[in-house]
Amino acid sequence: QVQVERFAYDVVVIGAGGAGLRAAIEARQQGKRTAIVTKSLFGKAHTVMAEGGCAASMGNVNAKDNWEVHFRDTMRGGKFLNNWRMAELHAKEAPDRVWELETYGALFDRTKDGRISQRNFGGHTYPRLAHVGDRTGLEMIRTMQQKIVSLQQEDFEEHGDYEAMLKVFPECTITELIKDGDRISGAFAYWRDSGKFLLFETPAIVLATGGIGKSFKVTSNSWEYTGDGHALALRAGATLINMEFVQFHPTGMVWPPSVKGILVTEGVRGDGGVLKNSTGERFMFGYIPDVFKGQYAETEKEADAWYKDQDNNRRTPDLLPRDEVARAINSEVKAGRGSPHGGVFLDIASRLPADEIRRRLPSMYHQFKELADVDITSQPMEVGPTCHYVMGGVEVDPDTASSVVPGLFAAGEVAGGMHGSNRLGGNSLSDLIVFGRRAGLGAVSYLDGLAERPTISESDVDDAANRAVAPFDWPTEGQAENPYTIHAELQQSMNDLVGIIRKEEEVQQALDKLVELKERARFVAVEGRREFNPGWHLSLDLRNMLLVSECVAKAALMRTESRGGHTRDDFPGMDAQWRNTLLVCSSDERGTHAEVAAKPQEPMREDLLELFELSELEKYYTDEELTQHSGRAG
Ligand code: FAD
Repeated sequence: QVQVERFAYDVVVIGAGGAGLRAAIEARQQGKRTAIVTKSLFGKAHTVMAEGGCAASMGNVNAKDNWEVHFRDTMRGGKFLNNWRMAELHAKEAPDRVWELETYGALFDRTKDGRISQRNFGGHTYPRLAHVGDRTGLEMIRTMQQKIVSLQQEDFEEHGDYEAMLKVFPECTITELIKDGDRISGAFAYWRDSGKFLLFETPAIVLATGGIGKSFKVTSNSWEYTGDGHALALRAGATLINMEFVQFHPTGMVWPPSVKGILVTEGVRGDGGVLKNSTGERFMFGYIPDVFKGQYAETEKEADAWYKDQDNNRRTPDLLPRDEVARAINSEVKAGRGSPHGGVFLDIASRLPADEIRRRLPSMYHQFKELADVDITSQPMEVGPTCHYVMGGVEVDPDTASSVVPGLFAAGEVAGGMHGSNRLGGNSLSDLIVFGRRAGLGAVSYLDGLAERPTISESDVDDAANRAVAPFDWPTEGQAENPYTIHAELQQSMNDLVGIIRKEEEVQQALDKLVELKERARFVAVEGRREFNPGWHLSLDLRNMLLVSECVAKAALMRTESRGGHTRDDFPGMDAQWRNTLLVCSSDERGTHAEVAAKPQEPMREDLLELFELSELEKYYTDEELTQHSGRAG
């Protein structure tokens, strides 16, 4: 009998990034006993790495901005496949959520007249990203953590215990969700340092575990991004949508090899940096796709003038949505016009004075100086695409963030729908605070409607413990497998075969490889004990990565068109018949096998549809879909 420490909470939030912290703050403020469980250190979530900023149409720098423009930009960025209700809520609520962060103590950079400053970013019509230099995520996490401490101080006053209502479990990894019938009843976890087990008894769980990037070799993501929340949701009976859409950020470092994939913020281009190929050409002018023709500058002169006068010039194509820029860089490199180390050049040195570069982009300056010995105030950077963000995630109700499993909620990168086929930069940080709060509220109202608390069966706890220790049982027959080898092979295969450009034979090869890896993963064995054992942790993460990768590959195979973060070499065009189709992934309870099925998405509400010109919609929609549009009715 393994020992399991037990805790009981009203709400358990898994993940301490922006989405998790905001959800937990809400649940606690509504009077619920809340736990925050995070597999990394408290304060070291992915959100902390966010650089460029948080999108909200406050209109501080350009008064023409408003939620409708933000909504339109978001739908365009996602190629009209977004869950439009999420995009609407996000655009409407982001400004209030940013203001609220200031009430928690955040201090964003200011305009000259003292308002929150906003910067340009790809796909956003107006300067829209509230930022703190290029360290915005750090400020968001810092202030939300501070808010949590202040709530704990209030709890001490009332209960004599700082952790009476809100407790953080750092370096604690959830491996299983437990159900009572069809609804959530708890979660099973281990402590990273001691390897000891814990059980959370809880009717409501908010998944806020972030993304899946560690399934790819070149990525801007760090070690926690192993798709745990996606896989936990699947195994609990929830569904994932949009998994074929993986964002490759156009500008990751390409050199030296040890730092390949580390992000170079879009803020560099937002602040004036331009992309160039080996001949010195600003090649993005040659890559404006038809759907964006007329919206972007066609000459260098106009593009440069736009930085100073946005009313009379169109924006630079260096700031097209990320999928477009990533594909363009890929094509330049393929055509032999790349930089020495297989990327292209990103030049800010010739565009801004050195002092200004150091002031606006301090992290980028240090990153290149320390990691690549490049001084970005005098030399161009070498950059190329890197796996950055997954648009796909748990299928949720837009208003409450609830999944199809009663008691299971999801917010932030682990949730799907909001960004459609491609996320605009800056729209994640705002997504976290808008839907983090909504997930907290969703969990609270679920709890309030609950007649009795669900229970946990002891056999489920034993099963979870047995599965967790399985990698210590060496196989008696056959070869024991090393988790690091399987991980490396998975990353290589996803990178090469289900990466930025895909084709049927290659995705099929990846799926065959996944079958092989899943079989071998059954024999993964680790040495040593449960204390601080990274090999063991990886073995447990592996089954999540394998399941989630299967979803990505299967959905990528099924979608026979190119859209946003899914480019099929064999189906290069966007196909209007596919626009409103969601690919929905599900799995069996053990997560041994993923299935994908197509289903239509609910059509956009008419008043929202009317926010777009008919001529624009015609680029994306089928004729039948537009019969009701007022532009046609006349
Ligand atoms: P995270 O912040 O990643 O938090 C996930 C949490 O879940 C962590 O605490 C992790 O430890 C925990 N966790 C995971 N699995 C488990 C488990 N099994 N058990 C317990 N805990 C678990 N977006 C923008 O909008 N603007 C930007 O400027 C921007 N810049 C970026 C720069 C970089 C380098 C990167 C990588 C991303 C950037 N993004 C940006 C994207 C954005 O930062 C992320 O999408 C966002 O922070 C995700 O937040 P989250 O709350 O969903 O998850």
